[in-house]
Amino acid sequence: LHRNPGETEFHQSVHGVLQTLGPVLVKYPEFADLKIIQRICEPERQIIFRVPWQDDRGELQINRAFRVQFNSALGPYKGGIRFHPSVYLGIVKFLGFSQVFKNALTGLPIGGGKGGSDFDPKGRSDGEIMRFCQSLITEMYRYLGEYTDVPAGDIGVGQREVGYMFGQYKRLTNRFESGVFTGKGLDWGGSRARTEATGYGAVFFTQEMLKARNDSLEGKRVVISGAGNVAVFATQKAQQLGAKVIACSDSRGVILDEDGLDLDLLRQIKERERGPVSDYAERKPSAKYRENGCIWEIPCEVALPCATQNELTGKDAKALVENGCIAVAEGANMPVTPEGIQTFREAGIAFGPGKAANAGGVATSALEMQQNASRDSWTFEYTEARLQEIMANIHQTCFETAEEYGSPGNYSAGANIAGFVKVARAMEAMGHI
Ligand code: NDP
Repeated sequence: LHRNPGETEFHQSVHGVLQTLGPVLVKYPEFADLKIIQRICEPERQIIFRVPWQDDRGELQINRAFRVQFNSALGPYKGGIRFHPSVYLGIVKFLGFSQVFKNALTGLPIGGGKGGSDFDPKGRSDGEIMRFCQSLITEMYRYLGEYTDVPAGDIGVGQREVGYMFGQYKRLTNRFESGVFTGKGLDWGGSRARTEATGYGAVFFTQEMLKARNDSLEGKRVVISGAGNVAVFATQKAQQLGAKVIACSDSRGVILDEDGLDLDLLRQIKERERGPVSDYAERKPSAKYRENGCIWEIPCEVALPCATQNELTGKDAKALVENGCIAVAEGANMPVTPEGIQTFREAGIAFGPGKAANAGGVATSALEMQQNASRDSWTFEYTEARLQEIMANIHQTCFETAEEYGSPGNYSAGANIAGFVKVARAMEAMGHI
């Protein structure tokens, strides 16, 4: 704590991992001798810099940006970039730390890192977003590279922003190095199914958890928080698998649509108009909108938090359990607080932690890197099938690891232990890195 003062979210995510690693150190005492835990909690490199840019009124704006290169034992640093006013070092470090274990779980050769800025894209014009992205990359580009560090999107960063960043990287380096960013457009090196991958993957993981209990998504009432990239595609896949998604949200309020969400309308509002979810209720009067409402009070059988960290508290978890919820999977990173996780565990609910449940995004990013390396482009069906297979493998790994280390049914323990052991072994093999 004293080494990283004030980094609340980072402390929370490290604590969550460390409290599950006891049995690993019993099995592999050499990891303690080699101080793997101390090393794995310390990023290999952290870069903090200023981003000056000019807004549409000609005024100079200054933001702060971060890239935390956490661990490269398994491959180049890999992890998204977030634009949100709440971004500070503690957020970027928690995301980077989780990314190390998540990426290890995918079984693909990628290390862990994360970046972001306190830039608020809301209400900014295309030109402002572009100038901001260009200024950010003018500094960050020197730390990136397809064999070094490969960023992607996250909150506030989608294909438009990746385009501006990749364009500036290309201009500065005079290289069309496709593999340096993922989440690119299909015409310039992107992968089919990448946009859909995190949301689809979270639903595939949920499906696996239910299958392990001889159940399925068919006919289930599902509540999904957020209305961004992850939430939209989680909704789409859940609907395809026969579930009824009845609610979504954004930072201002909650939509409840008992008919099941009209995904075309939601996408029109969120992706094309970039408007608030309240517009949904205006155009579909049978739906209800609650300003500042709590989405977790809505009775459902499956809950997928897909917005942001610590959005589902102990109190929310109790409400879900009392209302008959049987499965929760984290589409977002660390959306459930420690008290919420504890409540789910005590109630015997299937709980899929983000490191496992939302790993489909980064896994498909690694597939994008494979396509870039071979100058190839796979079909949607093939890429989605690979994603589904990866999610089933991650589920299996977490399930079996939890059993092996004495915590059957505890997917968090399974994910942390399996990810840790893989990275620790690589670090051991590479000496004192
Ligand atoms: P988007 O920016 O596309 O969407 C984020 C959604 O969450 C929006 O609806 C936004 O509402 C809401 N939201 C964001 N911040 C807050 C907040 N502080 N309070 C309440 N609501 C908030 O992001 P993504 O869908 O890409 O990311 C969502 C989560 O999934 C994040 O935790 C991210 O780290 C995680 N994730 C994303 C991956 C990806 O591939 N995109 C991969 C793995 C994890 P509003 O528009 O009103 O701000």
